[in-house]
Amino acid sequence: MDDFRSDTVTRPDAAMRAAMAEAPVGDAVYDDCPTTRRLEAMAAERLGQQASLFFPTGTQSNLAGLMAHCGRGDEYLVGQMAHAYRYEGGGAAVLGSIQPQPLANEPDGTIALSSIEQAIKPDDFHHARTRLLALENTFGGLVLDEAYVAEATGLARRHGLATHLDGARLMNAAVATGRDAETISRPFDTVSLCLSKGLGAPVGSVLAGSADLIEAARRIRKMLGGGMRQTGILAAAGIHALERNVARLADDHARAARLADVLSGFAELGAGPARTNMVFMTPAAIDVDAFGRFMAERGILVGGRHGTLRWVTHLDVDDGSIDRVRAACEAFFASAPSRIRQHRLG
Ligand SMILES: *Cc1c(COP(=O)(O)O)cnc(C)c1O
Repeated sequence: MDDFRSDTVTRPDAAMRAAMAEAPVGDAVYDDCPTTRRLEAMAAERLGQQASLFFPTGTQSNLAGLMAHCGRGDEYLVGQMAHAYRYEGGGAAVLGSIQPQPLANEPDGTIALSSIEQAIKPDDFHHARTRLLALENTFGGLVLDEAYVAEATGLARRHGLATHLDGARLMNAAVATGRDAETISRPFDTVSLCLSKGLGAPVGSVLAGSADLIEAARRIRKMLGGGMRQTGILAAAGIHALERNVARLADDHARAARLADVLSGFAELGAGPARTNMVFMTPAAIDVDAFGRFMAERGILVGGRHGTLRWVTHLDVDDGSIDRVRAACEAFFASAPSRIRQHRLG
């Protein structure tokens, strides 16, 4: 299978499995697990934050981050298309009693500074208390502009707001720009990083921030069902991922660029340029579902929804995978010319 649905589909290789098997472990709820502590120290250091905490998922580390900043009746500002708002089951509202104030995302993934400023409610008992600005980097594969992040977090701070970064793919942003992870993370009070996406670990995210915020998040993690025990087995995979699989994200970005090039050779697919390790396309002239089925029959899986398809490159696709996509696209258009023509005439 050439599985382009997501970079979450990567499976741990022999070296990662060996690191997991050999990891010294203890009960992480007693803070007794040496491997978990090592991962948490390493992630905090890489992200230039005081402390970090291991979570089973990015959904839970984002939520714990939001809840560490906001209490019941507080409000957070977030992109309308942000993962934390749109794709995490509304957890901030449901479990955190935090009112989301979603704001339009610009095509480059930012939220206009004027929108942020206008959305910050005055201190008036009619309003929820605006407490937090949450950004996401990368956003749909796009790297947020560094100057923008400095301005947005500065604006938040001037208004007394805390800041959270959903940095699920922060390492992709770092590798794509040649900046270190610390530079991208430092403007934020808390940062969530996924180990289970392009970094290749089977499970896990970390939330990083000040020692106080991470202690608050530890209590929240408990409330959210967490406190796992011998997590060193999982943390070992995270350490391996941070040590071995960051620089190689450049290969994924190069392959996404090649894939975008291949797909753009078929005008009907309407493929856009590569964004770090992703390529999006919204084909107007073909039946998207039929295209997806045709690819799947040839062992090529592509993700996406609502008429937009998403291709994601990662550890488990290679140059041969992209050659097979080209061949499958050629076969698709050779087999379906009449449908395309009819659609155009219609
Ligand atoms: C995947 C993802 C998450 C959530 O991570 P899970 O481990 O799948 O819960 C959060 N934010 C972004 C941007 C993501 O891509």
